[in-house]
Amino acid sequence: MLQLLIVDDEADFGDFVAEAARELGHDAETASSDAEFSAKYTRKTDIIFLDLFMPGMDGIEVIRFLSDNKSRAAVVLMSGHNATILNSARELAEEHGIEVLAVLEKPIGIDEIAGAIANFGQRKPAGSARRIVTSIDEIREALDREAFFLVYQPQIALNGGQLIGIEALLRWRHPEHGVLSPSVFMPIIETSELIGPVTEFVIRRVCRDMPELHRVNGTMHVAINLSANSIFDIDFPDRLDRYVRMHGIEPRQIVLEITETAVMSDLAVSLDILTRLRMRGFELSIDDFGIGYSSMEQLVRIPFSELKIDQKFVRNLVKNAEYRAVVEISTTLGHNLGMTVIAEGVEDEETLDAIRAIGCDEGQGYWIGRPMPIEDLRTWLANNSSAASTG
Ligand code: C2E
Ligand code: MG
Ligand code: MG
Repeated sequence: MLQLLIVDDEADFGDFVAEAARELGHDAETASSDAEFSAKYTRKTDIIFLDLFMPGMDGIEVIRFLSDNKSRAAVVLMSGHNATILNSARELAEEHGIEVLAVLEKPIGIDEIAGAIANFGQRKPAGSARRIVTSIDEIREALDREAFFLVYQPQIALNGGQLIGIEALLRWRHPEHGVLSPSVFMPIIETSELIGPVTEFVIRRVCRDMPELHRVNGTMHVAINLSANSIFDIDFPDRLDRYVRMHGIEPRQIVLEITETAVMSDLAVSLDILTRLRMRGFELSIDDFGIGYSSMEQLVRIPFSELKIDQKFVRNLVKNAEYRAVVEISTTLGHNLGMTVIAEGVEDEETLDAIRAIGCDEGQGYWIGRPMPIEDLRTWLANNSSAASTG
């Protein structure tokens, strides 16, 4: 027997779903307001049937509440509105690590209710990292212990195939959970005072690795991901410039990848810092292009040299005409603004051919090369003769 909570402002409809669930042998309660939801939700709740649009409270807030409270409940999303909105809400929930059993457009029948409940326990939780919970203290300690390390992923020219650069990606060797990816710990780091030390760690490590990387390939650049907080620090351009030069590295050998959201919050300060970075010769890339909140104004005013199309569009472009349109338009936009365009998330040969046909300049993805430790880059290059050529 499962514990269900039906959240819907239409009391009649809520009762109908609850009744159907009880007939299937489950325990079901209804809530038609914020207060009722707070009173009836418990940590034992297994499934929440959630109406997305309710006066006084919206389904998205409930999703956020479940995520903030590390709830184990799965949700069934319901709405009378169109399927696009429902699907967006599903993505949002899954991004928060909440399992979505079904997305139901009203009117909803008994079979659909039964089907949604039957999905419970069938699927793996979205993002298998979901159960791993880390704390700031644990991260601080890992930083002291040098439990973080970098892997590097190749970026190749689509015309000719040669290696153009590599992206440095952070990993954490965790004593219990093994190697963790940034999706588990980066959100915690980004909202804490640890972001400075972690960014410095990455920069130090890249500078230390540079001689070895350049023995593998003397012309490639290294891309580093930057979080919002680094972009609020007015002294950052000078410090970074001094630091890399001290290691015999030219700023133009470094690409700073910045996500759209990171840029957003304070355009004046970001603009100041990013412009000075660019003036010192660092390359600037707008990462995850297409999924953030970038305005066209931002894209025009910040002197980006590279546009990196988000992997979500790239991964699906062969199957999905809308996503293909996004990749095409982004490529044209980037080129018209004088930027190099790179597509990330290339997982098969068809996609590689497609982005080449569309006219992207560079590609990155599992099909080309996985993120790997520095020692493996040499082998990768030896096995990819076109990547090894100099153009
Ligand atoms: P990102 O900068 O967009 O990096 C690309 C992510 O896509 C990487 O995940 C990479 O492993 C993954 N990826 C590459 N090719 C493919 C593919 O073909 N298919 C799929 N499904 N995935 C692919 P990763 O390493 O887990 O990093 C996730 C995000 O964490 C990065 O996204 C970046 O925003 C952030 N991050 C990583 N390292 C750092 C860092 O040193 N500092 C900061 N501030 N953020 C970092
Ligand atoms: Mg990146
Ligand atoms: Mg990206």
